[in-house]
Amino acid sequence: MGTPTVLFLKTVKKQIKGAETNCLNRPRTSYARRTTHFYFGNLKALPDEINGVEVLKGVEANIIDYDGRLDLDEERLARLDIVVASLHDVCITPGSKKDNTRAIIGAIKSGLVDIIAHPGNPAFEIDKREVLKAAKDYNVLIEINNSSLGLSRPGSYQNCSEIARMAVEMGNLLTLGSDAHICYHIGEFKEALNMLKECGVTEENIISTDVDRLKRFLKLRRNR
Ligand SMILES: [Zn+2]
Repeated sequence: MGTPTVLFLKTVKKQIKGAETNCLNRPRTSYARRTTHFYFGNLKALPDEINGVEVLKGVEANIIDYDGRLDLDEERLARLDIVVASLHDVCITPGSKKDNTRAIIGAIKSGLVDIIAHPGNPAFEIDKREVLKAAKDYNVLIEINNSSLGLSRPGSYQNCSEIARMAVEMGNLLTLGSDAHICYHIGEFKEALNMLKECGVTEENIISTDVDRLKRFLKLRRNR
């Protein structure tokens, strides 16, 4: 079962190339807790706004096989505002570079996924260029995950910076995720922003710097 995710579109003022940016947070509830379909069914009870913060209802779904299948059924995924998918070694054994690449591309091609999260995880070696090409072709965002450059997934920096440089070259759209594992880290993008500046990424490349742009992107994807 996917990890339930509530996405808060929170206006976080950050500086990148001198411009103010609005960034997307992805706080999660319990990672390890197995959830049921009832959890996702009950999301209808969640208001669209809490204390002035607009809420997008979503999930970080687990990719569970090398064909890119997800652990939440299509019907429920289709009802969510935003779907993130990623590889986690508690849900799928890291395969060969070819296997992992196929898994992510399968998820991208499913049409059910808006964002591929932390593709720079060194535990899952991928063909970055192939993944970015599929993401571009299928209009899927690539996440640059702040937590990967700090607490989580050690050794991600090199991979993430290669992905960022490649995204500029290939014209992929990126999104930032604080991937906060504790409330104090919500809205924290310092490491990711520093790395992106080094890689020549501009605000134009990052869709989550503008809430309306992100919402237009999601709407477009759902209208297809
Ligand atoms: Zn994750």
